[in-house]
Amino acid sequence: MTSRKLHPETLALHAGWRADPATGAVAPPIYQTTSYQFQNSEHAANLFALKELGNIYTRIGNPTMDILEQRLAAIEGGVAALAVASGQAASAYSVQNLARAGDNIVSSTNLYGGTWNLFANTLRDQGIEVRFVDPADPQAFVRASDERTRAWYGETLPNPRLVVFPIAEVAALGRPLGIPLIMDNTAAPMLVRPLEHGAAIVVYSTTKYIGGHGTSIGGAIVDGGNFDWGGHAARQPLLNTPDPSYHGAVWSEAAKPLGPVAYILRARTVLLRDLGAAISPFNAFQILQGLETLSLRIARHCSNAQTVAQFLKNHSQVTSTIYPSLQSGVDAERANRYMTGGYGGLVGFELKGGREAGRRFIDSLELFYHVANIGDARSLAIHPASTTHSQLSADEQIATGVSEGYVRLSIGLEHPDDILADLTQALTKAAI
Ligand code: PLP
Repeated sequence: MTSRKLHPETLALHAGWRADPATGAVAPPIYQTTSYQFQNSEHAANLFALKELGNIYTRIGNPTMDILEQRLAAIEGGVAALAVASGQAASAYSVQNLARAGDNIVSSTNLYGGTWNLFANTLRDQGIEVRFVDPADPQAFVRASDERTRAWYGETLPNPRLVVFPIAEVAALGRPLGIPLIMDNTAAPMLVRPLEHGAAIVVYSTTKYIGGHGTSIGGAIVDGGNFDWGGHAARQPLLNTPDPSYHGAVWSEAAKPLGPVAYILRARTVLLRDLGAAISPFNAFQILQGLETLSLRIARHCSNAQTVAQFLKNHSQVTSTIYPSLQSGVDAERANRYMTGGYGGLVGFELKGGREAGRRFIDSLELFYHVANIGDARSLAIHPASTTHSQLSADEQIATGVSEGYVRLSIGLEHPDDILADLTQALTKAAI
């Protein structure tokens, strides 16, 4: 193929796979196998010693998964990726790959509820402290850091607040300190490319817009290959000190012949090997299938959501509408700077009548599904305070932006008139 730099829309269809050399099959095959025949004992030994890269066992890598990884890395502008079983696994590994007991990371407070739980409870129980800061002030990340801080973490377009994270501002503060920025870009694939703004690592729940059809759970970590791990040896010991679990390998050195892939190499060879959240080949295929049409779908999600946001803003039953294009001040400035391709498919709003009206609204929807998901082809609705964010304390709910009457919509690909008709009838019933 031409060496001209291809666009993300094209890479989503072509990166990482052309055709099966044996059969000519064009669609990526589902390699439903656990293991792989070694050519001989030397080949086997080389694979285990990382002298040669290749397939060993599907918990650590699989050819279908590999196509997905290559495509995601190409679209994102990274050097390599790791596909895993869920977005939760991707978030957990992205941190555990840099921080161990006694270390800390600093995270934005604006997080998906599951990530909040992972950070505030499960990682803390493993000895990794997560310090939460309001990302509106990028300097808050610096103030919360000390010599044991291994990473900073944020979400590009966090719901429920839908305030765009200041990626370049925060990333630039971390780099001289040796602290990489990990961005969860789940809500904005193709719309924002965090690596271009200085993030070092991107994580995804591929369950959402990338898979796009509500069929398959998956996650991914993309390595930007743009962070000088070796130059910050004291700050990043997991990548710069001998790893007893891998013949004393020092990952920043061991990866050199393969390129700037130390981070993702360790994530695969240590975390995926030991913790085992491997994606199934079938799910990797489903997510690849979704990825091929992501660019078209995400544009429609954005235009439908813009229509819905405008409609809600003008509706007498609605007290506030949350959508990036409706923001003002620095939030609007960031939304316009980062989200040049559209403002995403999520819309939040508050109803007159608080929790009760919210409940009546949700129960009256006919076209929208009432589910705990986002990024499906279908339109979805949920009341976060009683569902996705219910395990958080009242204070934590407020910190993440979930109020009693808040309703979250994930706008799908239906005709906009049909979406508005369903919202209209449900809002009328909610008012009774
Ligand atoms: N990150 C974000 C922003 C999410 O919305 C979600 C799930 O809703 C996750 C991570 C976790 O992903 P998964 O459900 O695939 O584990």
